[in-house]
Amino acid sequence: MRRTMIKNLSEKKGQEVKIKCWVDTVRFQGKMAFFDFRDVSGKVQGIIFGKPEVLESAKDLRNEWVVEVSGVINQRPEKNINKDIVNGDVEIEITNIEILNKAEIPFELNEDLNLDVSLDNRPYVLKSDKNRAIFKVQAEIVKGFRNTLNSFGFTEFQAPKIVGGDAEGGAEVYNVEYFKNSASLATSPQLYKQIMVGVFERVFAVGNVFRAEKHSTSRHLNEYSSLDFEMGFIKDHADVMDMFADVMRGIKKNLEENAKAELDFLKAEEILIPDEIPTMKLSEAQVLLEEKLGAENAIGEPDLEPEHERMLCDYAKKELNSDLIFITHYPVSKRPFYTYEDENDKGFTKSFDALFKGVEIVSGGQRRHDYDDLVEGMKMKGLNPDDFKFYLQAFKTGMPPHGGIGLGLERITQKILGLKNVKEAALFPREINRIDTLLNE
Ligand code: ATP
Ligand code: MG
Repeated sequence: MRRTMIKNLSEKKGQEVKIKCWVDTVRFQGKMAFFDFRDVSGKVQGIIFGKPEVLESAKDLRNEWVVEVSGVINQRPEKNINKDIVNGDVEIEITNIEILNKAEIPFELNEDLNLDVSLDNRPYVLKSDKNRAIFKVQAEIVKGFRNTLNSFGFTEFQAPKIVGGDAEGGAEVYNVEYFKNSASLATSPQLYKQIMVGVFERVFAVGNVFRAEKHSTSRHLNEYSSLDFEMGFIKDHADVMDMFADVMRGIKKNLEENAKAELDFLKAEEILIPDEIPTMKLSEAQVLLEEKLGAENAIGEPDLEPEHERMLCDYAKKELNSDLIFITHYPVSKRPFYTYEDENDKGFTKSFDALFKGVEIVSGGQRRHDYDDLVEGMKMKGLNPDDFKFYLQAFKTGMPPHGGIGLGLERITQKILGLKNVKEAALFPREINRIDTLLNE
């Protein structure tokens, strides 16, 4: 007999089936046994009743044992129907259980674990209802990102992760031995994205990037998944913001279609993305912060404090019904060398951050496409254009005006789900004292 997936069992009333699954819970009661079985598609209740030989073969079963269960699908009595779950109306009356593998669990799943215990026991803890829901949502965020960009004519490419130097001259990098030379791990796919605009006009990349940041905060990881896109033939950064807003709408729609149960289970709030996304210059945001929102020390600063980001998001939500707010025109001094300076607002850039539910989830903007302008940007940042000869070829050989964004996957997951720490939204978070297991001090 072929395997039936658990989610399809309701359609098999009165029939014999075979399922392959984990034991999710087990309870023995005299001559009866009750189980919840789980496969990737759902859960179903199983019972052994009046079959001493089956009961005997099942007596050692414990949580997470892997089994093949044969039985008949019965309608549950009206009073026992659980309308909130798939298969809540049926149960499987077990005629045979084969053990495919045993398990020995360190503790019961679904407890509210402290983060260190959760990380120490990751391969097991990821099986919890909560974690399966978090990472299903994360997978659907990626799918929404991909599908939306594909539908707008973007081409996906794989950016290299080993790079020749600290390309952007900013974020902290990990050095790696590279045969007789040294190399580093990419902090972003930025330069390759731009090169690829010269090839395919519109490109995106989904991949891990590495930041050797020593601090430990609730929003930083040392390795994270970056969702990047870059598009050619733009007028300015506003085109990029519009595209990102459409990507957010695409992600939201895909989540509603494919992860509704998980969002409900995790009690995620609805994502508010109005037709007009609130947008203001950094300097305007700073005035708003001080004059209306009660902040101090905002005006004249080159960047926003985390507290300011929270306040602006609260404001956008309460006053403008939006979870998303764009802050534009960060000073040239605060942005990387390739950022386009606004010819009408000298000293400030056509760049933006997208703040979402309290934190920055995206940085983006228009880039310098003119060769001389780009070289000047490098010099201004104290970088040597000779170190960028490879990248600069793209700007000598026909580079359209372009711009793009980088979106942190774990951050957007954290914020959509209202998780306290970004590490909860990372399958295997790297932190200063941990690569899977704790490192020696
Ligand atoms: P922050 O100011 O919050 O440290 P950043 O400005 O250094 O972030 P960018 O280099 O602009 O970050 O990266 C683009 C996006 O990548 C960020 O908006 C964020 O979503 C994500 N990101 C950046 N650094 C990290 C990190 N260390 N851990 C997780 N996500 C990150
Ligand atoms: Mg940023």
